Amino acid sequence: MNLSDGRWSGPILDNHFHLDKAGRYLDAALDFKRAGGTDLVLVHKPDFNNLPLNEDEIRRAYEETIEMAENTRSEHDLRVRVVLGPHPAAWMHQTAELGYEVAGELHISSVEIAIEFCDENLAVGVGEVGRPHWDVGEEVIQHADQLLTEILGMCKQANVPAQLHLDSNGEMTNKEISKICDSVGFPRFGAIHHHADGNIGKNYTHGLTSSVVVGRDAIKDIVNSIWQNEGGFLMETDYMDDPRRPGAVLGPKTVPKRTQQLSSSLIGMGIDAEATLSAIHIDLPDALYGEYV
Ligand SMILES: [Zn+2]
Repeated sequence: MNLSDGRWSGPILDNHFHLDKAGRYLDAALDFKRAGGTDLVLVHKPDFNNLPLNEDEIRRAYEETIEMAENTRSEHDLRVRVVLGPHPAAWMHQTAELGYEVAGELHISSVEIAIEFCDENLAVGVGEVGRPHWDVGEEVIQHADQLLTEILGMCKQANVPAQLHLDSNGEMTNKEISKICDSVGFPRFGAIHHHADGNIGKNYTHGLTSSVVVGRDAIKDIVNSIWQNEGGFLMETDYMDDPRRPGAVLGPKTVPKRTQQLSSSLIGMGIDAEATLSAIHIDLPDALYGEYV
């Protein structure tokens, strides 16, 4: 039993968390732990002022993230899984400088190398990949979708999940992405929609796995759609650890806090909170990424 008196005392996983050696770094991870957090999915954050231009630079950048994960494990005894990938915004920046062809090649190389790290059990998935989140026009979206199609084909081959960074056109985005998954035989379940909103109904998600960014209203949206959910969902902050914008995003303590809130809401609705929270924080992460080793 991980639930007593309505409080969850089991594992708590934040599915999309960044760290930065120039940011709060280990202190941010400690905040997460002190609030009750146990598991982080540390997603690679590119250095937008210094984007890699060849394979060696890509590897070196990933190794920095691996090292931060190792330090977080040893310093705070947290379980940290790593997700590596290029980021669609990085591709946009490089497209402006290098053109579609060269930027596209670098993007695909970055995914290939991320998959190598997965094969070596240093990472558990590819991300974030997908589409720019701001309005970029039809031509750019077409290029981005073409790359994403190729990337999800590679992820299928390698049998690894992908964390997707997408535009926020709600159901339409989800529908388009689900079609891309189907076109290469990549399971929609393995397409983890990062920074998803709280509507987790199947008609809305089209079977992508929502990683809900748990802002103020998220719990209300989750419980309103939970009856229509299939396949479960995850919770995240998208914590940026950006020293220039310290308060711009949700803080490291947010997932633990919202987990307790969700627990109360579920109990109030007569839903099995123990089973739901176990699925969010244990079973679904294990199914997507493999058990933590
Ligand atoms: Zn992110």
